[in-house]
Amino acid sequence: AVPVALVAGLSRAAHFGILIKGAGPLETMARIGTLILDKTGTLTDGRPQIVSIDSRDGSDGDEILRLAAALDQASKHPVAQAVVAAAKARDLALPIPSEVTEIPGEGVIGQVEGNRVIVGGADFVAQRIGHPEGDHPAGAAGSVLVAIAVDGKMAGYLVMADPLRDGTDAMLARLRREGITRLLLATGDRAAVAERITKGLGFDSVQAGLTPDMKVELVLEERKSSPVMMVGDGVNDAPALAAADVGVAMGARGAAASAEAADVVLLVDRVDRLGQGIEIARRARRIAV
Ligand code: ADP
Ligand code: MG
Repeated sequence: AVPVALVAGLSRAAHFGILIKGAGPLETMARIGTLILDKTGTLTDGRPQIVSIDSRDGSDGDEILRLAAALDQASKHPVAQAVVAAAKARDLALPIPSEVTEIPGEGVIGQVEGNRVIVGGADFVAQRIGHPEGDHPAGAAGSVLVAIAVDGKMAGYLVMADPLRDGTDAMLARLRREGITRLLLATGDRAAVAERITKGLGFDSVQAGLTPDMKVELVLEERKSSPVMMVGDGVNDAPALAAADVGVAMGARGAAASAEAADVVLLVDRVDRLGQGIEIARRARRIAV
């Protein structure tokens, strides 16, 4: 039977919106030394706002946004959802795309009104169309960038801002107090964005440009030195959550695939509940053993 203290710990955690899938994960949570955080939707708010639209093909900003949003309707990625929300806020009518393929964490390819459209990260889109510059001045400065290509040509860029969640500093300090000795950021986004957003936060390592497979590699490498907790929200995070000693999914707005792959699901959109979760786990374990 599961010790009463662990059952009590599970129920106390649930009270705070921290769904821990059993006594095993609760016990492992008490021993975590390394924490790996995803960026978009985990460390950041994950509801990016459009700062500016840079047209490269002569069409106006609304037209760039309309095409990007038409295709991004097919994606659950937080950036894609922000693009769709911005288009709707401007009352743009969105055509339904066809022949859609999504590359998780990178972008979407499909047909919109008879044109082949690609939307996604700037490097991804540039690479797909053999565009020489994968980057953009605003991208180099650390803004989140979405690029749109139409029929093989770069049509434009959406420059977006995705700020850190409020209280990030305090959250990280608390996690350190709860025994996290190594703190890493792992993102599919570009290094310029990752470095700007983590500046001054005391991360031990910042890893950018990671594919889902590379996130898994990172988790396995870190597990050689200490039990690893990985926190993420996207479809692209699911394999890394499964590979971690404790995978934590941002469940309130995140992808169902990541919640399924996880050992812990945060049912409230509050990554700062992690510190509380670890404290509960450590206390339950002290009493149980
Ligand atoms: P993270 O790993 O930090 O959560 P992602 O790898 O999920 O970040 O996303 C990185 C970047 O890829 C985003 O900032 C965005 O520019 C781009 N991106 C990925 N998928 C899409 C999409 N469907 N639509 C628009 N942009 C996308
Ligand atoms: Mg993410």
